Amino acid sequence: MLSQLRRIVQDVAQEPVLNNALAGLVSNVKNALKTECCSVYLADYEQQHFMLMATDGLNPEAVGQISIGFSEGLIGWVGQREEPINLAQAHLHPRFKVTPEVSEDRFSAFLGCPIIHHRKVLGVLTIQQGESRVFSEDEESFLVTLGVQLASVLVHAEMRQAASQNSKQQKSTGQLQGLPGAPGIAIGEGFVLEPSSDFDAISLKKVDDPEKELSRFYKAVKITKAEFNRLAERMAGHLPPDALAIFDVYHQLLDAASLGNEIEKQIHEGWCAKSALKRVVEKFARQFDDMDDPYLRERGTDIRDLGQRVLNHLLDTEQRHHKLPEKVVLVADNVTATMLAEIPRAQLVAIVSLKGSVNSHAAIMARALGIPAVMGLDELPLFHWQSKRLIVDGYRGQILVAPAEAIVAEYQALISEDAQLSARYQSEMHLNAQSACGAPFSLMVNAGLAIELESTQPSYTDGIGLYRTEFPFIMRNRFPTEAEQIELYKKVLASHPTKAVVMRTLDVGGDKALPYFSIIEENPFLGWRGIRLTLDHPEIFLVQIRAMLKANIGQGNLHILLPMISDLAEVDESLRLIKQATFELTDELAGTEIQLPKAKVGVMIEVPSIMYQLPELARKIDFCSVGTNDLTQYLLAVDRNNPRVAGLYDAMHPAVLRALHQMSLQAQGLQLPMSICGELAGEPAGVLILAAMGYDKFSMNSSNLAKIKWLLRRVNMSELQLLLPEILACQSPKQVRLQVQRFLDQKQLLNQLRA
Ligand code: PEP
Ligand code: MG
Repeated sequence: MLSQLRRIVQDVAQEPVLNNALAGLVSNVKNALKTECCSVYLADYEQQHFMLMATDGLNPEAVGQISIGFSEGLIGWVGQREEPINLAQAHLHPRFKVTPEVSEDRFSAFLGCPIIHHRKVLGVLTIQQGESRVFSEDEESFLVTLGVQLASVLVHAEMRQAASQNSKQQKSTGQLQGLPGAPGIAIGEGFVLEPSSDFDAISLKKVDDPEKELSRFYKAVKITKAEFNRLAERMAGHLPPDALAIFDVYHQLLDAASLGNEIEKQIHEGWCAKSALKRVVEKFARQFDDMDDPYLRERGTDIRDLGQRVLNHLLDTEQRHHKLPEKVVLVADNVTATMLAEIPRAQLVAIVSLKGSVNSHAAIMARALGIPAVMGLDELPLFHWQSKRLIVDGYRGQILVAPAEAIVAEYQALISEDAQLSARYQSEMHLNAQSACGAPFSLMVNAGLAIELESTQPSYTDGIGLYRTEFPFIMRNRFPTEAEQIELYKKVLASHPTKAVVMRTLDVGGDKALPYFSIIEENPFLGWRGIRLTLDHPEIFLVQIRAMLKANIGQGNLHILLPMISDLAEVDESLRLIKQATFELTDELAGTEIQLPKAKVGVMIEVPSIMYQLPELARKIDFCSVGTNDLTQYLLAVDRNNPRVAGLYDAMHPAVLRALHQMSLQAQGLQLPMSICGELAGEPAGVLILAAMGYDKFSMNSSNLAKIKWLLRRVNMSELQLLLPEILACQSPKQVRLQVQRFLDQKQLLNQLRA
C-alpha cells in the first residue's frame, strides 16, 4: 500500500504537464484500488467552481468542460465539509446533482475526498463503482492519505503552470502567492543562483534539446575526471594504493558502460542533464543502500559523492551560461549573504527566496538593502524562474510572471508613488528624531548583514544599534583572523566616531550557516546557536573580543552585545572571557602610551527565560537590547524561518506586546538602558506601540529609518498613551493592527504610509 501510494505521488510530481500528471493519477488510483472510476476536480476560486480535470471512468469528453459550483452536488459538498464522503447509493442522496454530460448513471457507490493545502481546498478526488456498497475503511484511508500527499504536489504543479504562462495568457490568477519578505515593488528578470549543489534541491525537468544537454553532461564528466586525476596525484604519497583505487572506480563509473550510459539514456528520453543525473544517481545509490553487505552498502555513498561532483560542474557551467540581466530579481532556494555579494548592487532590484519566511535573515537582508522580497514559494522549482520577466510585490508577497504590458504599467505607477513617498520621508532626515510634542528618540541603524552594500547615513542617526558580525565570517572559507577582524571593526567604529556602535558577538546557527563549519541539527533554532556556540569555542570568542577591543583603541565607542543569552551563567562566562581578553591586551600594551578604552557590555533579550532575570542581569551588565525577531519566535513557539507556520509568527501577538510592555516598565525601574533592535522597531505600527510603552531607543534597517523618523515627528506622546490600553486589551494581532490603523487614519497618516 505504502509503496503504491509513494509511486502514485512520485509519478504526479515528476510529470511536468499538469493535465498529463492528473490523467496518470486517475488511472493509477483506479488500478491500485481496483475500482471502476476515478476522477479529479480542481477548484477555481475566481469562478467559484470545481472543474473536472481528469477521469478514468466518466465520459472523457467532459474533461475541462464540466464544472460544479462550490455549493453544488456531492463534489461541492465534499469541498464544503472538508472531509471524505462515502456513499453506497450516491444517486439517492439529496445533494446528488444530475450531470448527464459525465455519464455516471452506471455508478452507485461514491467516495469523494478533499485535497487540502494549508487549509485551502484545492480539489476533490473521487472513486466510483457500479455495485452499491460503502467503500471499505482501507480504501477510504488510502484516498485520504493520497489526498494529503497530493496537496503539496498539486500546488507545485499549479504554480508551475502559472509560472509558465506567457504574457498573452496572463490573467489575475497567474499570480504566485508567497509571503511578504521586504516591502516595495520591483520589475526585473529572474536570475537563479543555486547553492553549492544538493540533489534534494534539484527538481526534475524535461527539455527539448537533448544534444545540448548531452554536450553539457560530457563537459561536466570531463572536468570531473580531470579533478579526480588531480586529487589522485595530490594524494599519491599520502594514501595507501588500495585507498587510491577509489579514483579508478570513479573513473570507471563515469564511463559510458556504467552510470554514464544510463544517464545518456535518460537524456535521450528528454530529461535535462541535471535531472538525468539525479534520477540515475538516486536509483543506483538506493540499490546499494538496500544491500545487506556493509561494504556494498557503502558504495551508495560513493555514487552520491561522485554524482555530487558532476552536479557541481553542471551547475557551474549553467550559471556561467546565463548572462546577468540589467535588472536582477535574484531567485534562490535560500538567499544567502554570499549570493547577494555576487550581484552588483546597482543591478539587484528584488529577491525571491523560495525557502524562509518573514523574519528569516534573507528577508532582513533585503530590508537592509531597501529592496522588495518575497519568501516561501518552495513548491515551485527553481528552474521555472530563470530569465522570466517578474513583478515582485513585496507588500503583498506576490509575484507576477511574464505579466502583460498593461499590468506592468500599473505596477510602474505604484513604483513611482513609492519613490515620491520615500522622497517625502527623506526630506526630513536631517531633523531631530522627536515626537510632535518634543519627546526625544534615539534612532540607530542595524548593520552588518551586508555592510558593503548598505547605505547608512551616519550624520542623521544616533549610531549603530546592532552590528551583526556574522557577515565577515560567512563570506570567507575559514574563520577570519584577528587582524582581519580588527581592520573591519575599526572601519565600523570609525563610521560613527562620536556615537555608540553596538557590536554583537558571532550569532551563527539557526538560519545562518558558516560554509566551513557545518552544523546539522534537527532543531537548529533551539540548538547550538549564538553565545552557546561561541562559549563552547572560547578560541573563536576570545579572538573576536580581542579584535573588537583593539579596534576600539582611539575610538572608545564600542558596545559589546551578547546574543541568545538564556541563562545568567552564560553572562558570567562571557564577562570572564571579556575580562581575560582585556587583561591580555592591557599586558600587551604595557609600556606604551596606548590606552585601552573600556567597552560597555550588554545582552540581547531574545530568549524568554532571561526576561524573568532582569534584576540580576541589571547588576552585571551596562545595557540590553530586545531582539523582537527571536523573542517572537521563542514566545510563540513558531519557527521564524518556516513558511508553513508563517501565519502564526507575529510580533503584534498580544502575548509578545504584553511581555514587551512589562519589560519596559521593569527596565525603567531598574534603570537598565533598554533598546529595541528587532524588526518591530522599523515597522510604523510597531514603533508607535513601542513608543507608547515607553521605549525610546530604536535600531532598525537603514531603509526604514527616514519613514520612522517622519512618523514619530507627527505623533504626540499623550495620544500614544491613550492608545496603549486599547492595544494591550486586544485579543489578536489583527485587532492590534486595526487599532493602530484607526489611530493613523484619524491623524490622516494612513494613506501616507504604505506597509
Ligand atoms: C532579533 O532576534 O530580533 C535580532 C535582532 O537578531 P537576529 O534577527 O539577527 O536574530
Ligand atoms: Mg536574534
